[in-house]
Amino acid sequence: MKEILLLKDGEIVLKGLNRRQFEDVLKKNVRIALHSLGRFEITSAQSTITVRPLSDGIDLDEACERVARVFGIVSFSRAALCDEKTMDSVLKTAPVYLEKQLRAAKTFKVEAKRSDKKFPLKSPEICRELGGELLSKFPHLKVDVHDPEVTVYVEIRDFGAYIHSNPLKGAGGIPVGTGGKAVILISGGIDSPVAAYMMAKRGLKLTAVHFASPPYTSRRAEEKVVRLLQKVSRYAGPITMYTVPFTEIQEKLRDDCPEELFTIIMRRLMMEISQRIARDKDCSALITGESLGQVASQTIGALNCTDDAADMVVFRPLIGMDKQEIIDISYKIDTYETSIEPYEDCCTVFTPKHPRTKPVLKFVKQAQERAGFEPLIEEALNNLKMTPIYPEE
Ligand code: ATP
Ligand code: MG
Repeated sequence: MKEILLLKDGEIVLKGLNRRQFEDVLKKNVRIALHSLGRFEITSAQSTITVRPLSDGIDLDEACERVARVFGIVSFSRAALCDEKTMDSVLKTAPVYLEKQLRAAKTFKVEAKRSDKKFPLKSPEICRELGGELLSKFPHLKVDVHDPEVTVYVEIRDFGAYIHSNPLKGAGGIPVGTGGKAVILISGGIDSPVAAYMMAKRGLKLTAVHFASPPYTSRRAEEKVVRLLQKVSRYAGPITMYTVPFTEIQEKLRDDCPEELFTIIMRRLMMEISQRIARDKDCSALITGESLGQVASQTIGALNCTDDAADMVVFRPLIGMDKQEIIDISYKIDTYETSIEPYEDCCTVFTPKHPRTKPVLKFVKQAQERAGFEPLIEEALNNLKMTPIYPEE
């Protein structure tokens, strides 16, 4: 039996963006997600994207899993394409295709949609005929038009008749790429991959920036970040990652700045460098995994000092969340187990014993200027390492 996928569009919140553009981006994202599984025809009409496999033997279970991670889809169904566009074929296909669901249910109803007006039966007649057929094949069932356990959908379209039942939940959100581009500051921790996922869900295309301080941080720490991004990329689509060589800057910090201000100045330098990369790569926002009060560098005073280092908007989607809430999402997107692997981050190199929780911006800036980081920043920017990231499959 031939099967297709039907994807329901989600919210269109952007006023300037029309449905056509929105659907074009969404179709492209679906195409990218399914690309390695085989050839598909992907079309859209009436808030529904239809995905038809063009080659035999395509793994549709896997296709469904991938589609469930594409932002911009509220729900989706797997549907059987009837051999012919006739009522006989509908009556033959439905009980076979939905046998498992219908056996397990007590109540059902049929809903029919006929966009091909040449089909000889009208929608209420299709419902009546198929309802009768299913009741005779599954005598334990009762019709419940208000709250059925299973709704059997019959759709008669130009290209054929197809049948499906209760839709599955999609990823929600808005299609990646319709909201602009942003840089995610990614560490190997639990928080930043979750922050990346959350902002991709709001339509942002991501570029990742990771600060590495070899030999204080190892190659395996960096590889861990790549693996985390591969997981995020299953939702966010392809991501370009830039690794910033941060060792000399951190050594200068240690040598030339007051110890209690290490962390705050380091955070400011991270923002400044990330912002320059963002500008260069045509991104217009920064994203971090900061959460208010989680550590000394995430107090209201410290965040004011960090924020001052960037002119562009900084998204902190986790700012009001508890650690457990963040962990719950990291389980959902399957980054948790990777995040807790014990590799060092550059943030944990030269950490002060007593970091300032209420730093005064004026003094922080003075200390930073006195040390003079500009030549080292430029050198780091000239030595970025680029790694293209694709979804983990
Ligand atoms: P995470 O769990 O994401 O590591 P955290 O709670 O450990 O976050 P910090 O280490 O203070 O918090 O980092 C705060 C934010 O700064 C991170 O969420 C991330 O956005 C950014 N960040 C930290 N370390 C790095 C790094 N090595 N490279 C790029 N960004 C980083
Ligand atoms: Mg961290």
